[in-house]
Amino acid sequence: MAVHTKTTKENRASINHARLEAASNASCKVAVVEEARFANMSSKYMHANTFHFPQPKPVKHIAVIGAGWAGLAAAVRAVQAGHHVTLFEASRSLGGRARAVDVTLPNGKSITLDNGQHVLLGAYRETLDLMQTVGVDLNPTLTRMPIALSTFQTQRWSWLDYTSLAASLIGWGLRGMTCPDSTTVLALSKRASPKVFTDLIEPLCLSALNTAPAEASGRVFLRVLKDAFSSRDSSDMLIPKVDLCRVFPSHASSWLQARGAGVRLGIRVASLLPLQNEFDHMVVATPPWEAARLLRDIAPDWAASVDALAYRAIATVYAQSPADFKMPKPMLALSSDAQNPAQFVFARREEKGLLAFVVSDSKGEREELERLVLAQGKAILGVALQPVSTIVEKRATFACTAQIKRPAKLSLAGLSVVGDYVDGPYPSTIEGAVLSAAQFKL
Ligand SMILES: Cc1cc2nc3c(=O)[nH]c(=O)nc-3n(C[C@H](O)[C@H](O)[C@H](O)COP(=O)(O)OP(=O)(O)OC[C@H]3O[C@@H](n4cnc5c(N)ncnc54)[C@H](O)[C@@H]3O)c2cc1C
Repeated sequence: MAVHTKTTKENRASINHARLEAASNASCKVAVVEEARFANMSSKYMHANTFHFPQPKPVKHIAVIGAGWAGLAAAVRAVQAGHHVTLFEASRSLGGRARAVDVTLPNGKSITLDNGQHVLLGAYRETLDLMQTVGVDLNPTLTRMPIALSTFQTQRWSWLDYTSLAASLIGWGLRGMTCPDSTTVLALSKRASPKVFTDLIEPLCLSALNTAPAEASGRVFLRVLKDAFSSRDSSDMLIPKVDLCRVFPSHASSWLQARGAGVRLGIRVASLLPLQNEFDHMVVATPPWEAARLLRDIAPDWAASVDALAYRAIATVYAQSPADFKMPKPMLALSSDAQNPAQFVFARREEKGLLAFVVSDSKGEREELERLVLAQGKAILGVALQPVSTIVEKRATFACTAQIKRPAKLSLAGLSVVGDYVDGPYPSTIEGAVLSAAQFKL
């Protein structure tokens, strides 16, 4: 077996060599023509012995393990750089935590929903750029909803509340929208009135960091705010109009395959060792706990830093309201507490009256959460609600606390790691996942 693998590798090495030779022969021909052209130019502009023609970069065979948004992004960037890519995905669907799921409605109809309501921001520059690279037309894919203060206000504010918000923003701005690593969002919010805190800071912190303000990282929170207010449209919420698979993963897969990349679904990589013989470089793009398992023998300290991460859950309660019920906006903020756990409700497009209630940093069991959310929704919206499906992702995101030590960007010879948890400026989000892949080195 070992001999066979070695022979395969040697064969591939000689195939690569032949390819390189052909490539360099081709570029040599160009070089001869170019040299002749340059030779005719005035010596004032040309010194033949100082001009170097670029060498063709060697084409690498790259295995990407995991087809979430980070893995797909890494695969696209590697193909753009001229490499040969094979993508391995354990499940039968693309997109990882941001994927589509099939659900049956109370009327028996089958529809495709998402593994939890997702929202992108106008500030997700890397993600939006990547989506367009693989041919996604943003307008029919995402509803742009500008954020106004009124989007979050669930109660009437006095001038004292507005003044406390202005004082908080000015204070943060004067400190360059950053703070010491150990500062929590709660500690950052001393100047905010109780209404500003519960209506604005708490839901923003929960939706962006999926971590309660009392423990959430103030530095990461301020970074998200800074990016969200960096230009006129960067704070816009971008709500998918199609299922999450069609927002990006299915386009990415077609784009990759059209360029010769392999996309292998339903293949769980159990160990990296067999791949080492087949590929020049491996990109581990699995969730953190799986990356730690795959890399425990290769990078034990790094795996230990992943083991130290804590996780937070997100629950999405899909419920059916009467078909003639229409929400005034695609998304409403809800007043929430332990008995009313949902912070937001979204109107879904798959079926008239279908709603998605979101409980960030959710606690407790699925049945109890569903019961509480249905009662909360009925009380706030004033309509009867039928449960459709409640999805609780226990490890939806890492806990983005002020104490967190993010696992470093791991880049060994022949191996890179990407994913939303790898050290970077963003919390556990789609943009964090895509950014990590934009930075990986071959
Ligand atoms: C309910 C919910 C709501 C969220 N809401 C938002 C939101 O509104 N906005 C936002 O920006 N982010 C949101 N997030 C976070 C976002 O989904 C994640 O940050 C992002 O999808 C992480 O992408 P990833 O590629 O790093 O990891 P993953 O999505 O976890 O992808 C890893 C992939 O690796 C595969 N895999 C695992 N093991 C193996 C193996 N051994 N071999 C092969 N393949 C393997 C997995 O099947 C998976 O497809 C939400 C998450 C959840 C769960």
